[in-house]
Amino acid sequence: MSEKKITGILNRVIEIDLSSKTVSTISISMDQRRLFLGGKGLGLKLMYDRLKPGIDPFGEENIIIIMTGVLTGTSAPCSGRFHAVFKSPLTHIIGSSSCGGSFGRMLKTNGWDGLIIRGKSPSPISLQIHHDQVEFLDAKDLWGKDISVVQAKIGSKENETIVIGPAGENRVYFANAASGYRYLGRGGLGAVMGSKNLKALIVLKGQYKTVPFYPEKFEKLKNRANTYINRNPMSLLMRDFGTAANAEYIIKNRMLPVENFSFGNHQKAMEITGRQIKARHHTKHHTCKPCSILCGHKGMFNDSVNTVPEYETLALLGSNLGIFDTNFISLFNDICNEKGMDTISAGGTLAWVMEASKKGLVDIDLEFGHPDKIIRALNATANLEGFGKDMATGSRALSGKYGGKEFAIQVKGLEMAGYDPRGAYGQGLGYAVANRGACHLSSFPVVFENLLGFLDPDTIKAKPEFVKFFENFYAALNSLDICQFTGYGLTLETFLTRITPKAVLAFLMQQLPSFALSLVDFSIYPDFFNAVTGMKLSSREFMIAGERIHILERLMNTIEGIRKADDTLPDRMLFESMKDDPRKRCVPLSPMIDKYYRLRGYDDEGIPKTSFLKKLNL
Ligand code: SF4
Repeated sequence: MSEKKITGILNRVIEIDLSSKTVSTISISMDQRRLFLGGKGLGLKLMYDRLKPGIDPFGEENIIIIMTGVLTGTSAPCSGRFHAVFKSPLTHIIGSSSCGGSFGRMLKTNGWDGLIIRGKSPSPISLQIHHDQVEFLDAKDLWGKDISVVQAKIGSKENETIVIGPAGENRVYFANAASGYRYLGRGGLGAVMGSKNLKALIVLKGQYKTVPFYPEKFEKLKNRANTYINRNPMSLLMRDFGTAANAEYIIKNRMLPVENFSFGNHQKAMEITGRQIKARHHTKHHTCKPCSILCGHKGMFNDSVNTVPEYETLALLGSNLGIFDTNFISLFNDICNEKGMDTISAGGTLAWVMEASKKGLVDIDLEFGHPDKIIRALNATANLEGFGKDMATGSRALSGKYGGKEFAIQVKGLEMAGYDPRGAYGQGLGYAVANRGACHLSSFPVVFENLLGFLDPDTIKAKPEFVKFFENFYAALNSLDICQFTGYGLTLETFLTRITPKAVLAFLMQQLPSFALSLVDFSIYPDFFNAVTGMKLSSREFMIAGERIHILERLMNTIEGIRKADDTLPDRMLFESMKDDPRKRCVPLSPMIDKYYRLRGYDDEGIPKTSFLKKLNL
């Protein structure tokens, strides 16, 4: 069949009902495209129009939406991404997850920008999509199998898949789903697929090729983007050491989670840095495609080639459990990847159980620093064996049942990522107000507070402004769809930022944050949007789209009952300092929240005001 060209988008989404086995097509209007861009933004909009509030995340009414962006399928750097939106069983609010696997690119070759899945199959199935055809394939023989086993059985050079493991089938609240060796990790998409008896999504190679509307402009932008990325120190660090490059900064600033966020450092902490891992495990690149930063790696662990654990995994399944042996952390990572569980939530949950066991709240043989027990606990969780059935519900539910809420390190039910906010107050605010829970990818002020050193980590000044900026910016990037890590090179290497001395930048950012943020040049992103689709989009419109997307997600969460009381941190972060912190810091959250609400146009309860929603065309 001859190849057909599409300039960025076809504005077509396929909707599949598993209960009735029916298929229909939805058109996206150009107005919706401009307002919500694609990826996460359009996924949320489609969800908002369809999802009934208050439904059971494991009920038939839950919906899974998988959306690509206008850059998905092009050769723009770090653009091979797609997004999933669903109601999360872990948080009971909107779950969203970004992935660098190739499923989204392949979906687009069939002329679909996205995919909506409704209903529930009466028995295990896989869905296979090719052009306009959808097949409901029997998957009884795949049920109960680990992710790599299923991938080997159904995968080929002519298709891409999204697969869940036994944890997803067993509805472990934090079960993930795999696209190749990249994961839709947070919030339990795998469990929602499992509740629908959906073992795998398969998309065969189609006949469409995504090409830019303005090819010359696109090539120039691509070259500029690659130049910026190739000279940006953070991008180069990630290229060398992966996200584990963060570990050295985090350790230096004493904010590594150790033993359920009790300490900020450990004498063996340097064992888990990217530099150590590179030297010891002979790492090589193993990345999303296409990518110019190249943060993903594989290396030799336990005598075989394996994916290098991300920083979050090293922190949550490593130091936070009292483990610093990278071979063991790789093994834990492997179990989670095979059974299909998010490593951050798995680590946060096990750490709670370890502390609860020490305090006598639960009678479980699980202790910090004991790898054999961790291996058993991870398998028991995925298979719902014994106490694993409780562990499969995450740390919020566990602490609700057994007590110990003050040391359940989660927000809105989502376990916290690997940056202790007592060492970076802005990150504390970021976790507290993030739409999907204690997530570091909603906003990442710690990069300016610790990693790059532009902001004082121990003050609340300027933090609400930066959290708001990051949230809008990342929502827009996740809707293009392009990797958030491009933010380093594509904003910090622009002309103005590059010629301004660091001390001047730091002064402006800390003292005049709104002014400093108004100078950030991110025009390369809307320029890419224009080069691919032909549609004009100003930098202002791009950033307002990001804000609209973020606020829409917040609105959906408030409809589910989220209020100010939920925008908080675990008591440990608010009232206890890290045991090894000589400055005895806790996060002064309350004044940051008040300022943040004012900046965001929320009322006193954290609900977006009607006038503000109207202003955003919501
Ligand atoms: S930088 Fe890393 S996460 Fe981003 S696209 Fe490249 S490999 Fe994937």
